[in-house]
Amino acid sequence: MYGQPVNEPHGHPIAELVKTMLSQHTNDRNRDRAFAALRKRFSRWEEVRDAPVSEVEEAIRPGGLGKQKAPRIQAVLEQLGDPPDLDWTETAPREESLEFLLSLPGVGRKTAACVLIFTWGIPEIPVDVHVHRVGGRLGLFPEKASFERVHDEMLAIVDPEDAYELHMNLIRHGRVLCRPKPRCGECELRRMCPWYRAGRK
Ligand code: SF4
Repeated sequence: MYGQPVNEPHGHPIAELVKTMLSQHTNDRNRDRAFAALRKRFSRWEEVRDAPVSEVEEAIRPGGLGKQKAPRIQAVLEQLGDPPDLDWTETAPREESLEFLLSLPGVGRKTAACVLIFTWGIPEIPVDVHVHRVGGRLGLFPEKASFERVHDEMLAIVDPEDAYELHMNLIRHGRVLCRPKPRCGECELRRMCPWYRAGRK
């Protein structure tokens, strides 16, 4: 239905980490505006870390919730060494990278997964509300499963080389057709969709 998206890892783990933190509770457009403003104001991550929190807050204001996100971003940068560095996650064992990322303040499984797959192409399926809703309706995991459990279940059932494609297309499907109020009449998956077959359309 949506073709085969191709992952093009960009190799900038701290940028991915900060961008994902900025995406919390806002849309992609506002996240991108906030990230661009942050990069324009500070050329290096240590400058973001060491700046007065009010300056960081002001820079990321377009993304919303600057008061919460600015100190959180600085607290995370504090934990990344001096100068801040995450390049080691390219070659470290996946479990080691995950454990470190999850130890950072305010960083959950989805953010950690985004860093690994979008930066380095390490197979992960970041579970957001779309993946959770669509996958639950399609019976890929129990509908009420925790986000944490869904991460594990998705990785267990998906061939690593398909992880990116499945992640991107579940999100696309969740935005286009399998919305909170789904457009099942236009969906090619309805024949195999337990949610539709149970008459919950
Ligand atoms: S049939 Fe309906 S509920 Fe099932 S995947 Fe398609 S849009 Fe979603």
